[in-house]
Amino acid sequence: MAHPKDGSVTLRPRTAVLTRGFDPSLSFGSARPAVFRSSTYVFATPEAAERAFAIAHGKIAPEEGERADLIYSRISHPNAEILEDQMVPLETAAREAAVFNSGMAAIMTAFFTFAEPASSIVYTVPFYGGTMRLIHEFLEPFGVTGIPVLAGSTAAIERAIRSARNPSIVFIETPANPTMVMTDIRRASEVAAGHSPKPIVIVDNTFLGPTFQHPLTLGADLVLYSATKYLSGFSDMVAGAALAKDPAIIHKMRSRRIMFGNILQPDECWMLDGRLPTVSLRMNRQSKNAQRIAEHLVSKPQIRRIHYPTLFDDAEQVRIRAAQCDYPGGTFSIDFHGGRDAAFTFLRHLKIARNAVSLGGVESLACHPRTTTHSGMTQEELEQAHIGEGLVRVSVGIEDRRDLLADFEGAIEKI
Ligand SMILES: *Cc1c(COP(=O)(O)O)cnc(C)c1O
Repeated sequence: MAHPKDGSVTLRPRTAVLTRGFDPSLSFGSARPAVFRSSTYVFATPEAAERAFAIAHGKIAPEEGERADLIYSRISHPNAEILEDQMVPLETAAREAAVFNSGMAAIMTAFFTFAEPASSIVYTVPFYGGTMRLIHEFLEPFGVTGIPVLAGSTAAIERAIRSARNPSIVFIETPANPTMVMTDIRRASEVAAGHSPKPIVIVDNTFLGPTFQHPLTLGADLVLYSATKYLSGFSDMVAGAALAKDPAIIHKMRSRRIMFGNILQPDECWMLDGRLPTVSLRMNRQSKNAQRIAEHLVSKPQIRRIHYPTLFDDAEQVRIRAAQCDYPGGTFSIDFHGGRDAAFTFLRHLKIARNAVSLGGVESLACHPRTTTHSGMTQEELEQAHIGEGLVRVSVGIEDRRDLLADFEGAIEKI
C-alpha cells in the first residue's frame, strides 16, 4: 500500500483525519503537531522572500506540489495549515478548508467575500442571532437586500430565489435553531444553479455536521461552522471554519482573511486539531443519548411537543430528514404547556445539565431561547418561528443517559 502522504490511496475520513496534513519531521519528530507561535518567518534567501510574496498576492501560482514559504502569521501559520488539511476529510466532498477565530468570523468573511454591491441575499429563518444582526445591522445598510424565507418550506425558498433581484448568496441554516425545522439543501441548490449568474449556496452546518449532514454532496458550494460547538466539543474555545469542494472559493476567502486579520491563532488551532479525531465518536454518543431521552420524554403530560428529527410529524419534514441527515443529532427543544413559568422551573431544577447557551459540548446544557439566544427577534418573528415562552433548548452531552433522563424527569416533576 502506498504511503498515505503521496495521495495515491483514498483513506476513509476517520483514518485520514489522523494521517494527512501533518509531517512529524517538520515538528522535530513529535508524534503530534507542535505549536508554532511565531508571528513572522525567516526566508532562506531574498529571492525566496520575493517568491513567497508573489504567491501570497496571487501574482504567480505555486508549482505542482510546492508548499509556499510562510511569511507572517496573519497570512497563515503552520498550525492553521495542519488543521485545515486535517479538517478536509471530515467534510464529505470537501477539498479545501479555512479556519477563523470564531463561527461569526467565518460567516462574516463569507458574506464579505461573496455579497456583491446592490445584490440580495436569500436566507432561512429562524437562524443564529449573530448572523441575523450581521445581515440587518451591517449588510442591509450597505445596500445588500435581505430576503428571509421561513425554514422548511421548499416552495417558499424556490420562489424567493427565482424572484430575487440579483441574488449573490443563498444562506441556509438547517436544521434551524432552535426548532430543528429542516430546509431542503438539494432543491435550493438546484434552483440556485438555474439562476444566472449563479448565487453561491452557503450552509451553516453547525448542528449536524460534519458527521450527520453533508451539504457539499447535495449541491451546496460552501459549508460554514461554529467550531466552538461540536467540532471542538468541550465548551472551552471559540473558533470557526469554512469548507468547499472548489478550492477557489476558499482561496478567495483566505485573501479576505488576510485583510480582516481573523485567522484562528496557533494555540487555538492546535487545540481544535486535537479534537478532530473524536468528533464522530462524540457526536454519535450525543445523538444516541439525545434520541433515547427525547423519545422517552415526549409522552410526559407537561410537554406539548419535542422538536427533534425522529419526532417530526410533518410529511415534508420527514422527507427532507430522510434525504439529508444520517442521524438526528444531539440537540432537541422541549415545548412545555406551562409557558415561561414551566420552562424556568425546569431550568431551575436541573442538577446535571447546566443553564447556559451554546451547544455541542461533552457536558449537557439547556437554555430558554426566547429570552436569551433569540431575544433579538420581534414578537411576530418569534411566533412565526414557533419559539414560544415554553420552549427550552437542550444540548445533550456524553454523560450516562440514565442519569440525564433522571435529571430531566426530576426537573419536569417540579412543574
Ligand atoms: C454558535 C453559532 C454560530 C456563531 O459561532 P461563534 O463561534 O459563536 O462565533 C453560528 N451559527 C450557529 C448555528 C451557531 O450555533
